[in-house]
Amino acid sequence: MVTKRHQQANILGMAGQWHCIIPTMPDSESAITPVSIDPQRLRLTNDDASTGTLIGFKCNECEASVFGPAIFCQQCTSTDLKAVDLGNKGILFSFTIVRIPPAGWPGEIPYVLGQVELPSGPQVLAEVINCEHKDLKIGMGVELVLKSVPAENGGPDKAVYKWRPV
Ligand SMILES: [Zn+2]
Repeated sequence: MVTKRHQQANILGMAGQWHCIIPTMPDSESAITPVSIDPQRLRLTNDDASTGTLIGFKCNECEASVFGPAIFCQQCTSTDLKAVDLGNKGILFSFTIVRIPPAGWPGEIPYVLGQVELPSGPQVLAEVINCEHKDLKIGMGVELVLKSVPAENGGPDKAVYKWRPV
């Protein structure tokens, strides 16, 4: 009797173990940390790719800032540029409601495409989420929010940047 009970306990113990192991297996692939959708425009700032900062260049001649890669200043044409963080906040400069999305658009339709002005001047186009259309106001503060989307080629998920009201 003792042996049988012992076996039973063992089986239950195993079941308990499998219960712990099995649910983690399907997750192992998606647990790979997402990578920036565009490392020249978005730098991830934490390990799980949930926060990031926009990046670009600042002109050493006239101090104008550019979002993303640049080889010369768009304002004064100087090539004396330094890489800078452009932060994760801005002001809604303009927006439109997109009803006919680009091919392959993975999100909801219609969606809001916002033109956001960063404190240092450059403007950045991205979807505005977490906001009713009627609540959108020109000049409202917005902040960057990162979402992970599956990569088309099966590699690590891509972290994409969107805006949401502050
Ligand atoms: Zn310049």
